[in-house]
Amino acid sequence: MEVFIEPIGRLINEFSKLPGVGKKTAQRYAYKIINMSEQEARDFADAIVGAKRKVRFCKICGNFSEEDTCEICKQRDPSVICVVKEPKDVIALEKLHEFKGVYHVLHGVLDPMNGVSANDIRIHELLLRVQEGDVKEVIMATNPDVEGEATAMYIAKLLKPFEVKVTRLSRGIPIGSELEYTDEVTLARALIERKEI
Ligand SMILES: [Zn+2]
Repeated sequence: MEVFIEPIGRLINEFSKLPGVGKKTAQRYAYKIINMSEQEARDFADAIVGAKRKVRFCKICGNFSEEDTCEICKQRDPSVICVVKEPKDVIALEKLHEFKGVYHVLHGVLDPMNGVSANDIRIHELLLRVQEGDVKEVIMATNPDVEGEATAMYIAKLLKPFEVKVTRLSRGIPIGSELEYTDEVTLARALIERKEI
């Protein structure tokens, strides 16, 4: 016999799918939902379904967007492209209010050990942007870990034939760490003091 009645067990099971949520936490979340008013529970469920329905990827940069083209691509300087691994890296950099250019989200980095090759991430799309647009600089802002460095070097090599400056965030960020968890002062300095590669 199951310990939980079916509807609660189902909720716990769904919450367990979230990153960092173990069985205990999932159970706490499920109880919280049960204790909500009908309206609160409905708002919660609507937010999930609404986000899923409305959020798509910007057709230019690959970041999350409500429309075909995101607000950053619409409004900012397209001559400087900052290349990142994931949408959450855009958030980390935007918090600095330092960068005035646009982004390119790769949706991953090269990771041959786990079967991620150049065709699995948005490298081709980046090359097209550089080829077609009036791009002056491409900033490689992948994480300073093994895969991030390898990806930055790989892309820098592909960009060699184009007349574009390729830079890398400076070494201020601890090796192996992620942009997301780097403090804002360090990240801003790494961006400002970027070096040509
Ligand atoms: Zn965009």
